Amino acid sequence: MAVKKYGKATKACRICGTHDRLIKKYGLYVCGRCFREVGPKLGFKKYN
Ligand SMILES: [Zn+2]
Repeated sequence: MAVKKYGKATKACRICGTHDRLIKKYGLYVCGRCFREVGPKLGFKKYN
C-alpha cells in the first residue's frame, strides 16, 4: 500500500484526507467514516 506524502497532512485519513476521528491504531490512519468501510475487510466488526 502506498503512502502519499502531503507534508503537513501526515496525520490525516489516508483514504479521504480528513482529520475527523482519525484512527491511527494498528497503523490504520483512517478516519472513523472510512474505517466503517475498511474495518470489516480488515477483520474489525465494530469500532466506536
Ligand atoms: Zn476517511
